[in-house]
Amino acid sequence: MYFLITAAHRPPIPISTLLQDELMRPLVQAGVIAMVSALVIGFFIAEWITQPLQEISSAAEKIPERKYQEIPIKGPSEVRNLARTINEMNRQVNNAIQAQQDFVANVSHEFKTPLTSIQGFAHAIHEGAVEAEDQQKRAAGIILEETERLNHLVSDLLTLAKLDSGVIEMEMQKIDPTALIENILERMQFQIREKDLAVKKDFSMNLNISADADKIDRLFSNLIDNAIKFTETGGEIFISIDCLDKKVVIKIADTGPGIPKHELERIFERFYQVDKSRRGDQGRGVGLGLVIANEIAKSHGGSIEVQSELGMGSTFMVKLPSENEKDQQQSH
Ligand code: ADP
Repeated sequence: MYFLITAAHRPPIPISTLLQDELMRPLVQAGVIAMVSALVIGFFIAEWITQPLQEISSAAEKIPERKYQEIPIKGPSEVRNLARTINEMNRQVNNAIQAQQDFVANVSHEFKTPLTSIQGFAHAIHEGAVEAEDQQKRAAGIILEETERLNHLVSDLLTLAKLDSGVIEMEMQKIDPTALIENILERMQFQIREKDLAVKKDFSMNLNISADADKIDRLFSNLIDNAIKFTETGGEIFISIDCLDKKVVIKIADTGPGIPKHELERIFERFYQVDKSRRGDQGRGVGLGLVIANEIAKSHGGSIEVQSELGMGSTFMVKLPSENEKDQQQSH
């Protein structure tokens, strides 16, 4: 079987003939409709995306002036996420600014009270208003006490600033918590005896921690000082050292006034005091002791938890990684 293939030149079809073709009209109509629809849909999609973006942009411009208003969550999911992130960022910036303002107000207040007292007594002595020797002694005693209070406050603020900056130097060494606590109790024995407090101990566990000696001393001094300060004369303090989930757990419990449940979270906030009128003995403390203790615990990879009931006393539980556990991890 044979095929014969031939090729012939196709005469060109003029444009006018093409336009007269009966298929041409519906084709052009369909094209125009498609183009208009594409333009309309494109316009709405662009609006859907750009309008919330414009809102985000103008809201962000107002952040430095602190006139920011919450951005409504709308548009495609990426734009909604962006709006949520910027809203959250603004909330955090506001909280930080508020915390900074509160901090300055609190610091000024804590400085002002002792300074006013020092100024008052120094002025009275200078004016010759305090003549009797015992009165002079009393005035000098108050000036000394208030100066100590200011000294303590400045030292707390410096420690806190260093801990905040995250550049605090840590000189880690192996520490026996039993010796550490015994040492602190020895230093505080005067206050303990003065208040006739019974100190009970359960140091059965022989564990070591890896810590910076000065800082860890500060942590436990603050907690034990609070236990002594807030416990009534004749009360009891119980300190135990234990091991739980490969952590060294040191508990400091007291039979003091306790802390209301809703205030438990807040006692770790700067300058927070449950009851300013109940500052413990001699009005010591400004509400920075627990903040510092908590920051020190965190910088050692540990934590502080508190359990307390009003009228029943409080228990502060410090958890720190055990040195023995670290040794084991290193040998694996
Ligand atoms: P302060 O300098 O007032 O002692 P802290 O930061 O050490 O500051 O403690 C904050 C507040 O927590 C205290 O003012 C007190 O109200 C409460 N608090 C801390 N420890 C105890 C405790 N052991 N018993 C009762 N209240 C306590």
